[in-house]
Amino acid sequence: MSEYDILIVGGGPAGLTAAIYARRAGKSVLVLEGTGFGGQIASSHLVENYPAIPAISGADYSETLAAQAKALGAETRFGRVSAARQEDGGFVLTAGKKELTGKALILATGAKHRKLGLPREEELAGRGISYCAVCDGAFFKGKDTVVVGGGDSALQSALFLAGVAKSVTLIHRREELRAQDASVAAARERGNVTFLLGSRVTELLGEQSLSGVMVEDSAGSRRELAADGLFIEVGQEPDNEIFAQLAELDQGGYFRSGEDCRTKTPGVFAAGDCRAKDLRQLTTAVADGSVAATAACRWLDGQ
Ligand code: NAP
Repeated sequence: MSEYDILIVGGGPAGLTAAIYARRAGKSVLVLEGTGFGGQIASSHLVENYPAIPAISGADYSETLAAQAKALGAETRFGRVSAARQEDGGFVLTAGKKELTGKALILATGAKHRKLGLPREEELAGRGISYCAVCDGAFFKGKDTVVVGGGDSALQSALFLAGVAKSVTLIHRREELRAQDASVAAARERGNVTFLLGSRVTELLGEQSLSGVMVEDSAGSRRELAADGLFIEVGQEPDNEIFAQLAELDQGGYFRSGEDCRTKTPGVFAAGDCRAKDLRQLTTAVADGSVAATAACRWLDGQ
C-alpha cells in the first residue's frame, strides 16, 4: 500500500509547481528535496523574465513558491534519494534510512553546476572559488573577481558582483555570448566589468586560497590575471543516473520524455531542467511541473 499518491523528487520550480497542481487535484503529495527549496533559481540574483512579475529575487520567488505548495497541503522532506525502484505497482524511493512509497513518481531533479575540470578546482572551492555569486559575492567586497561563462548565469553573476566587488572580469571561451542581450548591455554599462572573450582559464593560481588565474586567448598567448574570487558559471549537468532503470536517459544524461512529460515507465514523469528539451528556463520548468502533475493525476485516475 503506497503512502502517497505522488512522490516528487526535487523541490525546484518544476517539482513545487507539480505539487501545487497535484494538491489542487486532490492527490496526496510528498516533495523530496536534497538541499533547499527553489533549486538553481534560489541563488539567482534577480529574475526579470517571469511574466507579470517584472522583478523578483530568486530567493523570494523560491520561498513564496514553497510556501504556496505547503499551504495547499504538499508534504515536504529533506533528504537525498539514493535509490529508486518499482514495486507492487508503485514506486519506492530510498532517502537516508527511510523508504518512501508512492503510486506515481515525478522526477524534477534539475541539474547541478558544471565544473571547469581544472586541477585543484575542488581544493580551492570555498577558498576563492564559488559556483554562486549571490551566495558568496559578499565575501568579495572591494576585491577583484573573475566570472567564467557566457550564458545568463554568468552575466547575472557579473552584474551582481559589479555592485559588490572592485572589479569583475568576465572570461568566455567564444567571441559570442549566449546570454540575453539586455543582460549583456547592462554589464557593458558597468564601469567595473571587463569582457575577455575568446579566452579560457587554463590554470588556478594560489596556495592556501586563490590568488589568480592563468588565461589563454585563442591565439595561444597566456597571461596571469590576479583575482581574489573566481565564479564558475559554465552551465549545468543532470544527475539522473540512479533513475536510469525507470526513465531512459539521452546522451547528455537528461530524461527522455514526450512533451506530456511521460517517460518510458507508466506512472513516471519528468519535469524541468532534468528533462531533454530545448529551453531550460523558469517559465519552462513551471510549465513542465503543471503538465507532469496533470498527466500523473490522469494516469492515477485511470488505474
Ligand atoms: P548555459 O546557458 O548552458 O551557458 C553555459 C555557458 O558556459 C556557455 O556560455 C558555455 O559556452 C560556457 N561553458 C560551458 N562549458 C564550459 C567549459 N568547460 N569551459 C568554459 N566555458 C564553458 O548555462 P547557464 O548560464 O547556467 O543557464 C542555464 C539555463 O538557465 C539557460 O537556459 C539560461 O537561459 C537559464 N537562466 C535563466 C536566468 C533568468 O532567466 N534570469 C538566469 C540564469 C539562467 P558556449 O556558449 O561556448 O557553449
